[in-house]
Amino acid sequence: MNEIQIFCPATIANVSCGFDVLGLCLESVGDEMTITKTDRMGVRITDIIGANLPLEAEKNVAGVAALSLLHHLLPNCGFDIKITKNIKAGSGIGSSAASAAGAVYGINKLLGSPLTDKELIYFAMQGEALASGSPHADNVSPALLGGFTLVRSYDPLDVIAITAPPELYVTVIHPQIELKTKDARSVLKENISLKKATIQCGNLGGLISGLYTQNYDLIGRCLHDELVEPVRSILIPKFAELKEAAKQAGALGGGISGSGPSVFALSRGETTARKAAEAFAAIMQQTSVPFEAHVSAINPTGIKIM
Ligand code: ADP
Repeated sequence: MNEIQIFCPATIANVSCGFDVLGLCLESVGDEMTITKTDRMGVRITDIIGANLPLEAEKNVAGVAALSLLHHLLPNCGFDIKITKNIKAGSGIGSSAASAAGAVYGINKLLGSPLTDKELIYFAMQGEALASGSPHADNVSPALLGGFTLVRSYDPLDVIAITAPPELYVTVIHPQIELKTKDARSVLKENISLKKATIQCGNLGGLISGLYTQNYDLIGRCLHDELVEPVRSILIPKFAELKEAAKQAGALGGGISGSGPSVFALSRGETTARKAAEAFAAIMQQTSVPFEAHVSAINPTGIKIM
């Protein structure tokens, strides 16, 4: 096999109470990548369709992730990468992660899978460092493994894959203002109170338990973020109204997707998820901000060969 074409899904990081540790993978939104093995050593990004992003490998998360993997595997060949972007950069649904994870997944497959998908997380993270300043794994892990993922520890890297309950659906609204991860991080407080930490631990533990036991009510009760949402939501137009409207439409709950500006809701069943999308749209129509809404099942496998 000299060429591979893959679907690189969008992902939602944090999922309310899991700041920097929890993520989930979407089924119906994602980029496409074509990766070709070449005789020329190194990595070339030959084409990017649908976005204005740098072609230089060192300035593109796909290139940085790919180079870090090649540095480790030292193959006797190089790779050309073509990216079709459907996920807008800076949307908060893992645009950079889709490219970083896609690059390492495709190259690993073309080399006969010397590494497992879990082992690829580390190299995809190196691409993420270019986009956000730190090598975080909360988007690249669900992109590579599917379902929900929990980054239990960064040192050593320990990522746990969690199967999503079958009826869980995601609604995402993307108000089209660009909010860079770096800027959304700069508003966060360095220190938190013990009381807030306790509430957050309770909800994160409860959410994980709800996922394993398919307890949708418990999942809904745990979608509460004590630490980040109160400060970050100020950067998102109509955040409180969006969240409330989704709940009124029957969603279990929701919050900020990644570092925003996208907002997500989780629902039991596709019909409710579609109602939540309508409720989100009705709120956004009160503003002059253009928006895109997505409804998606949770992608159980992550990146796929097309
Ligand atoms: P998101 O959470 O949607 O990935 P980020 O702000 O984390 O948004 O990342 C987007 C940043 O990464 C932008 O500054 C963009 O220029 C940069 N970037 C570099 N290469 C890529 C790529 N292949 N795909 C998406 N963003 C990229």
